[in-house]
Amino acid sequence: MIDIRISNARTPNGDIVSLDIAGGKIVERSEAPARMSIDGAGWMVSPGFVEPHYHLTSCFVEPLDLEDAAFETQIDKLGRRKSEFTVADTVERVSRVLSLMAKRGVVHIRSYADVDQYAGMVCYESLKAARDRHRDRLDLDIVVFPQHGLVSDPKAFGLAVEALQDGARWIGTNPQLEREPERIRQDIRLVYDLAERFGARADFHCDETDRPDSLWLEDVLREGKARGFRGRLTVAHCMSLGKQPEAKRHELYGLMRDLDVTAAISPHAGLLYGDAGAFLPGRGLAPVREMLANGVRVAIAQEAFGSMFAPWLMLPDPVWSGQLMAYATKMLDTDGLAAVWRMISESAAHLVGRTGHGLDVGCRADLVLVRASCPAEALTTLVPDRMVIRDGRLTAASRLDETLKTPERIER
Ligand SMILES: [Zn+2]
Repeated sequence: MIDIRISNARTPNGDIVSLDIAGGKIVERSEAPARMSIDGAGWMVSPGFVEPHYHLTSCFVEPLDLEDAAFETQIDKLGRRKSEFTVADTVERVSRVLSLMAKRGVVHIRSYADVDQYAGMVCYESLKAARDRHRDRLDLDIVVFPQHGLVSDPKAFGLAVEALQDGARWIGTNPQLEREPERIRQDIRLVYDLAERFGARADFHCDETDRPDSLWLEDVLREGKARGFRGRLTVAHCMSLGKQPEAKRHELYGLMRDLDVTAAISPHAGLLYGDAGAFLPGRGLAPVREMLANGVRVAIAQEAFGSMFAPWLMLPDPVWSGQLMAYATKMLDTDGLAAVWRMISESAAHLVGRTGHGLDVGCRADLVLVRASCPAEALTTLVPDRMVIRDGRLTAASRLDETLKTPERIER
């Protein structure tokens, strides 16, 4: 018996396919009867979406008018706000975002768990609880994230060890927040030390700034190469990369290829936020097209929804993120938009180390169907109509009609 049979759908590559799904996987086509049939005519079937870089515990936190503040000031204020978080409140906020995303076709999300003097283990424990509660709807990976650095924050190192001992398999920081160059270098070394000690993967927020002289990406890559982190390292943002001389850029692309690094690039953060004392618009974006042309894999980082930094915008929908990336990078032709689609599906899946993500026999039946003929059309219309198949079951057939914020909050 087949659980779901999808007939006549189109893949992102344009092939017409019929898929049989049983036991949570795509299986060989057969004549066996199916419990559910989906007429895929007029729809595109894609491997489900993956959000590889999210700060779930920062979602639905009341704003503090920080939009134009220096990045470091924003992070300091977030720290103080985090000390008020409770597990119950955080699980509730995280659950609201996960629910929105699952309906839109996200089947896997990797989120940061702040472990620091303000949050203690509250964010980490909350993500573990949310991961268990929503296991049927999506996979949730946790990155242990000493947000304020492993050097300056007196509690961060111990808390990170506690989370890794508990079984967490990702560790990362935003080294620039240590501010002093020697502390930044030490922070980078400590992340690798912990990753080595616990067999974890390393992840770095790199150069989240519009200052061209901030190039911690290079230190991260060189240290990763020296320690043999090929396939176990990811980076994000890399905003100053495009401001380096051509020879330096190509040197860094070579390192990224050697290390098989996927870069999580955020058009949201690049376009929406300013920087310390800069004229606006500041911040900016990594040179995504040049990275792709030089064999560097890119995924899209949405960051957060309803955070203190941006109470509005940042719609939690990978297709909208893809459209934003297309605008920001000027990837507007059919091939460019197909490449953007891969950033929210295959490339993001590669970044999180997800296996069995695809449309082949044997792959996990974690799929999204959208009412469009191809990625370019989907990224243009934003496909309000979608069906989501998770673990071989139809879990959502939705239009974008969710209430994103509570009415009380809007009236205030
Ligand atoms: Zn981030």
